[in-house]
Amino acid sequence: MKIVLLGPPGAGKGTQAEVLTKKLLVPHISTGDMFRAAIKNGTAMGIEAKSYMDRGQLVPDEVTVGIIKDRIAQSDCSGGFLLDGFPRTIAQAEALDKLLEDKGGLDAVLNISVPLEKLVERLTGRRMCRKCGAIYHMLYNAPAKEGVCDACGGELYQRDDDKLETVTNRLDVYEAQTAPLIGFYEQQGKLFTVNGDQPINAVLADLGKALGQDWA
Ligand code: ADP
Ligand code: AMP
Repeated sequence: MKIVLLGPPGAGKGTQAEVLTKKLLVPHISTGDMFRAAIKNGTAMGIEAKSYMDRGQLVPDEVTVGIIKDRIAQSDCSGGFLLDGFPRTIAQAEALDKLLEDKGGLDAVLNISVPLEKLVERLTGRRMCRKCGAIYHMLYNAPAKEGVCDACGGELYQRDDDKLETVTNRLDVYEAQTAPLIGFYEQQGKLFTVNGDQPINAVLADLGKALGQDWA
């Protein structure tokens, strides 16, 4: 199973991926998480990525395609993978097709659709665990104890790029550079669009249906 999760920032890709990775038994590969790990480790790539992420811009395609190329070449990806947040430009999608040319290509692109006006609230209310990366929302998926991760007890924080100033910019970047991927994958006959504006479990059930699974 080689799957791409598509959708605007805040659509619920990471939230669904946390469960999908366990159900499908394939690794969850998030370019955003990889960049945040590189920033934490102070690598040269992290320092470069941060300069774009802080402004809500995309990290250049050469850098992003490079890290995906290395990651999907690792042995745990031999049975497939779940890509979250990649590709985000037509150039990245074309590069991915090329990387998978001899591997039968992608199996499915799951597009999680959420009205733009709901995304600002989703992003500004998002909280992440510093230790395990679990995703929460202050209203829609709140932890049992404020500021503390249910899963590991780690501290919850707000991503710098989830502050209102950056969020609007990220949504504009999505419309201009990532939304065209919907037509790109539709043309390939690989696109399945799911309504992301419903409770988390209902979205998961619809993603399952798109993959021919009964998870309701
Ligand atoms: P993405 O990875 O697409 O940017 P996330 O999975 O991080 O999105 O979700 C963004 C925010 O929206 C998080 O705070 C998450 O808890 C919340 N969220 C995710 N799915 C839903 C949903 N179906 N309904 C309400 N809130 C949701
Ligand atoms: P995310 O965690 O998916 O919301 O990504 C956070 C930020 O990381 C984005 O706003 C971009 O700056 C950068 N990023 C993540 N994935 C990509 C990608 N595929 N191409 C370019 N930049 C990316």
